[in-house]
Amino acid sequence: MGKKTVMILATGGTIAGSGKAGRGVGYKVATLTAESLIESVPQIQDLANIKAEQLFNLGSDNITQDELLQLANRVNELEKDDSIDGIVITHGTDTMEENSYFLNLVCDVRKPVVFTGSMRPATAISADGPLNLYQSILVATHDDAVDKPVMCVMSDTILDSRTFFKTSTFSVETMKSAGLGHLGIIRDQEVIFTSKGDKSIHTSKSEFRIDGVKKLPKVSVVYFHIDADVKNLEFALENSDGVVVAGAGEGSFSRFWREVIDNTKKPVVISSRTASGTISEESLLSKNSIATQFLNPQKAAVLLRVALINNLKRSNEDIDRIFRTY
Ligand code: ASP
Repeated sequence: MGKKTVMILATGGTIAGSGKAGRGVGYKVATLTAESLIESVPQIQDLANIKAEQLFNLGSDNITQDELLQLANRVNELEKDDSIDGIVITHGTDTMEENSYFLNLVCDVRKPVVFTGSMRPATAISADGPLNLYQSILVATHDDAVDKPVMCVMSDTILDSRTFFKTSTFSVETMKSAGLGHLGIIRDQEVIFTSKGDKSIHTSKSEFRIDGVKKLPKVSVVYFHIDADVKNLEFALENSDGVVVAGAGEGSFSRFWREVIDNTKKPVVISSRTASGTISEESLLSKNSIATQFLNPQKAAVLLRVALINNLKRSNEDIDRIFRTY
């Protein structure tokens, strides 16, 4: 059988960053093009026929709903393109956990979709981008990667977009799925899927689609801390279609916050500011809220936003079903 064909969608981030030779800080993100990324790892040409598109070139914190929809729509188009077998998206690591999960929810795709990035710019000593790109191509061409959730491949590890998040500001092993495991590992040219993933519904089986969607609902995350001003919560509720509370411990907050949540008509999803664990229905302080299960606040915001597409009046019962399913 001939080589498979992989489309690299370049979007920016540190993997396309450069700075002073040998330095891992103080660099500029999103300076290199898709072409120079590919040229820096000639070995990927042995793995697949490589095509590339520069969709945009941004630090991932600057990505708005416009670029996000552009990216998701392009992935949907590539699913229908018979000349493409797999998709690799180079992306900044800061918000990769959110944008990959968004694609996991809204893209009608069975082909492998792999996000990758790097923690060090191309000009640092031991830049991690080249190996991450190489390993992403390996995964995107692997037969077992079909029908998987949207994935992240970094530092020898294959992660599920539903569970992974950035855990360190500088470590190359920053992407982890605290306590929830990974999908597989990569060593040299070998890809080993160690898990089939959890039972959550994703991509081609998801009920969420973005055909014709030009604007996404507005969702805000409000962080509770000791003596946190209830006005921040009120402001978020007034100015958003839905709110995610990053509560303390198992989603807790003060009696002042509880009063506001008890009385709002907007959907409020309760998550935890701790890095792991679950929120159970029994521990919800307000019955007028929804438990995020184990999604962290920023991932819960993605799911709530998607749940409200074309349906701003979705009931709390239905949003609760969605949080148990996705
Ligand atoms: N600030 C960068 C970004 O997310 C960080 C990175 O790519 O690692 O675009």
